[in-house]
Amino acid sequence: MRVYHCPKCRNRVWFNNCTCTCGLMVGYDPDADAMVSEFTPCTNRDAIGCNWTADGDSGFCRSCSMTRTHPDMAVDGNAELWTRAEAAKRWVIANLVALGWFGRNDAGDRPVFKLLSETTRDGPARTVMGHADGLITINVSEADPAEIVARRERMEEPYRTMIGHFRHEIAHFLFLRLAAENEGFEVAFRVMFGDEREDYGGALKRHYAAEDDGGWRDAHISHYASAHPHEDWAETAAHVMHLTDLLDSAQALGFTNETPPDNLAAAMDIGLAVNHLNRSMGMEDAYPFVVTEVVRQKLDFAAEALDRSGRQVQS
Ligand SMILES: [Zn+2]
Ligand SMILES: [Zn+2]
Ligand SMILES: [Zn+2]
Repeated sequence: MRVYHCPKCRNRVWFNNCTCTCGLMVGYDPDADAMVSEFTPCTNRDAIGCNWTADGDSGFCRSCSMTRTHPDMAVDGNAELWTRAEAAKRWVIANLVALGWFGRNDAGDRPVFKLLSETTRDGPARTVMGHADGLITINVSEADPAEIVARRERMEEPYRTMIGHFRHEIAHFLFLRLAAENEGFEVAFRVMFGDEREDYGGALKRHYAAEDDGGWRDAHISHYASAHPHEDWAETAAHVMHLTDLLDSAQALGFTNETPPDNLAAAMDIGLAVNHLNRSMGMEDAYPFVVTEVVRQKLDFAAEALDRSGRQVQS
């Protein structure tokens, strides 16, 4: 993510800020990729601290207008969960606008979000995250920091975040657009990831029934990626979004070369550097992944497919 500046005093303004330290109220304009001071605020500004500018006549910003369902605000705790979930979503969508998706000039479909809490006025409700034909369901209960760590431990995953959930599910949606808009995408995809028309339900059942023998590591970025070609794509594409954003953030802070010869390799180096920094604070690794040669090829494929901006995101 870039680091922004106040249009009045030029001080640093972080992506999530609603006001500058000088007191000026600011709004983020995703098409200008800038903080502005003269703007119509998103209707959700007060409810969930959305700092984006309203998009057209809807009153909502680009990100909030993709939300069809939000959790019941009358239930204790849901406002905070929804606030955190939307903050993660805005971050991911801003990254994608920079890559050429969902911007003003992108006439293609946008995903629709159902953001659900497991806490409802009728008691606990089971919520399963997923993507189906453009509709993305996200369980905002995981926006609670203790809850997401508990689930990460239970699932024995090295990494689990709300930003990661949004990147993964949006990657499923982008697969549909890439397949519809790019001749030859599916054929090339199948060479790299396998045939995604293979029975999905059966593959997932087998995945959850089998012991994890670590055999997935040679060719997959995560255990879950080995469940089915669709999940391999979603995990790999999400990983490209992680790496692209890591590199953008490091460049914005002046920590790294402006134009590295190999963007993904530079981003992975930054990941390792952040791990080292985290260890000096007694914190867990931010980038707990091992990238093999086969995984690297998949990352290159996904990076090329996802970048429609003309900027260079890969070697
Ligand atoms: Zn200022
Ligand atoms: Zn908004
Ligand atoms: Zn998935």
